Parts: sequence; C-alpha cells; structure tokens
Amino acid sequence: MGEAKRRGTPQERAEEARAKKEALRPAQLVCGHCKTAFGEFDELDVPGLPGIDAVFGGQCPACGNDVVVFKGAPNAVAEAMIAWQKMLGADAQLGYQSSDGRHVPYEPGAEPGDDAGGAGGAPRGTVH
Ligand SMILES: [Zn+2]
Repeated sequence: MGEAKRRGTPQERAEEARAKKEALRPAQLVCGHCKTAFGEFDELDVPGLPGIDAVFGGQCPACGNDVVVFKGAPNAVAEAMIAWQKMLGADAQLGYQSSDGRHVPYEPGAEPGDDAGGAGGAPRGTVH
C-alpha cells in the first residue's frame, strides 16, 4: 500500500548501505596516544553492538598504537567502548570522533555525556 515504493533490488540496498557507511567514515583517525592523524584504516566488522553504526580501526603509523573509532549514538558509543576495553584489556587506547570531527579520547572513569546523573552505571533511557 502507498506509493512510497522502495526502489530496491537487494543489490541496490546493499549499495545504499555501503554508501551510508562510506558517509560515516571519518577522513582520518587520530591516535589518542601521540596525536598523529592518519588516513589508512579499515572498517571493522563488529557485531553485537546495539546503536553502533560503524566501527573503524587502524594502527598508528607513528607509535603502532591501535586506534578504534566508534560511530553511533553517544550512549551506545560509550557502552561500546567499555565493552571493547573489557574485551581487549586495559592496554587499548580508545577514542571516538565527535560529529564535528574532533577526536575525543576515552578515559576510563570519566562519565561521557552532558550531565552525568550519577545513576550508578545504570543506562538511562535514551530519548532522541
Ligand atoms: Zn600514535
């Protein structure tokens, strides 16, 4: 019903999804360790991260640090970084890029978000 037909062979849909990911791809990653910016990195296929649109990662050419950037809703990004760090251990240097392209390093213990409600780690409802 309705005339809003999705023009969509599966191929076109896949193409569309890829274009969407391409749009998410930052021009460069910034090493959270030595602040080197570099443009050679891959999209990582990380399943099971709700609210995450894409994950990009690469190795810093200057210091060899692994740099991982999550794209998604701020809450989801924060949770994904925590999950990721648990997975990789404390060595991982994590960060993300804000929508204006700024690199934001992730610091454990620091509460991301505007007003940290101090809810004891319980995720509060996301209203968007
Ligand atoms: Zn580096």
